[in-house]
Amino acid sequence: MSRNGVNETSNCHAPIKICIVGAGMGGLACALALAKADHTDITVYEVASNLGFVGAGIQLAPNMARILDRLGCWKQIADEAVECAETSIREGSTDKELGHVKLGYIHETYGYPHMVGHRASLAGSLYDGCKREPAITFKFSSTISNVTFAPKPSFTVTPREGQPYQVHCDILLGADGVKSNTRVAMLKKLGETADVQDTGQAAYRIMLTRDQMKHDPELLALLDADRVTRWIGEKRHIIAYPIDNKNIYNISTAQPDANFAAAPSATYTTKGSKKEMMAVYGDYCPMIHRMLDLVPEGEVSLVGDACHPTLPHLAQGAAQAIEDAAVLGVTLAPGRIADRKPETINKALKIYEKIRKERAEALVELAAENGRNMHLGEGKAKEERDKVFAALKTGKGPVPDKWADADVQKRIYGFDCVKEAEKACQEEGLPARA
Ligand SMILES: Cc1cc2nc3c(=O)[nH]c(=O)nc-3n(C[C@H](O)[C@H](O)[C@H](O)COP(=O)(O)OP(=O)(O)OC[C@H]3O[C@@H](n4cnc5c(N)ncnc54)[C@H](O)[C@@H]3O)c2cc1C
Repeated sequence: MSRNGVNETSNCHAPIKICIVGAGMGGLACALALAKADHTDITVYEVASNLGFVGAGIQLAPNMARILDRLGCWKQIADEAVECAETSIREGSTDKELGHVKLGYIHETYGYPHMVGHRASLAGSLYDGCKREPAITFKFSSTISNVTFAPKPSFTVTPREGQPYQVHCDILLGADGVKSNTRVAMLKKLGETADVQDTGQAAYRIMLTRDQMKHDPELLALLDADRVTRWIGEKRHIIAYPIDNKNIYNISTAQPDANFAAAPSATYTTKGSKKEMMAVYGDYCPMIHRMLDLVPEGEVSLVGDACHPTLPHLAQGAAQAIEDAAVLGVTLAPGRIADRKPETINKALKIYEKIRKERAEALVELAAENGRNMHLGEGKAKEERDKVFAALKTGKGPVPDKWADADVQKRIYGFDCVKEAEKACQEEGLPARA
């Protein structure tokens, strides 16, 4: 069997051959989890020539941190991430605080703090972890197409330079993002379509440096605080926090997609106009105008609901991709699928589906619901929501911003997907043999 390509096949004496489409957070975490589970033949195919992540921050929730720690990547990320001590939910038009939640209890309760960091740091440390594993091979500048499934998965690899070639493998994992070709092929085989439901929302991703903010004491105070701030308004919000040891203020917005809906792009990411962005937040308070005005013309980038088919209002998209990977590391452990029969591999993947589907779908719905609730316009529903925020100030009741609500956090952060996967494998008769 050739490792570099032409007509690669697996045979019963070779190790189980695993191919992964996509080197996003999901693909990188899958490769690492499977290598740590002692698989020895893992290839990751990525259309881009390198990792090339959009420069932006990301929330690193405890359910993600727990897995990254088991994979040996957490320390590197945590060293430059910022711990969120508190969150403040404010009215965008006035900057009036509606709700305030201290987050210190998260570390004690879930064993890891809630941190915020740079996407490049998360991806970089997963990638570094992968590079330390001889089992993992990366093929960048390689596009996957023509995925077929029987008797074993097979697909075409088209390198940017060179001739297309065919690969056969034992297990194919499609981690190719929201516009996944693998999903389209899989559903077609099942006689279903794979239309993506457009959320109608878009986001501006902005990173301001300390240098840009240093002349404005009010803005500098935001950068120096250990706080995630959300400014809400009708159909829109801005969420922001410091990253990179407080050298960068990361700002992410969410608003109806009026300016970009027609922008053709393979990734949903494109450039935006500063003037349009300022107009979208025109009725927000002067401090926010000063903050957005620091964005240089022409450097605004847009990510719609790009990387994952969930709205980002619970900050769980990548965390869920990493949970997927951790569960696959358990269900596909070499000892469980040692006979490499398609029915055994299928059983392992069914257990994966059983553990992941309901949880991921529930969090996608919860994120959408949180968006609806945070984006209320004037009226009865907003009055009711603001009463709940007011009660919170006297220490009573739930937090309307579900991201900061202790009961919702318990459901999200308290779930140890690896333990659940091990339990399910035992229950379903797929024990790990040495
Ligand atoms: C505004 C915004 C804010 C967010 N904030 C957070 C947050 O704070 N916390 C959090 O946990 N999540 C957050 N998310 C979600 C998170 O970014 C995504 O869920 C996560 O990055 C998805 O990773 P993925 O690996 O599944 O997909 P992707 O990152 O999309 O990776 C897919 C990869 O596959 C490659 N690929 C695609 N097709 C092919 C092909 N045919 N051949 C070869 N390669 C291919 C692509 O080039 C890409 O590299 C946010 C999302 C948005 C939009």
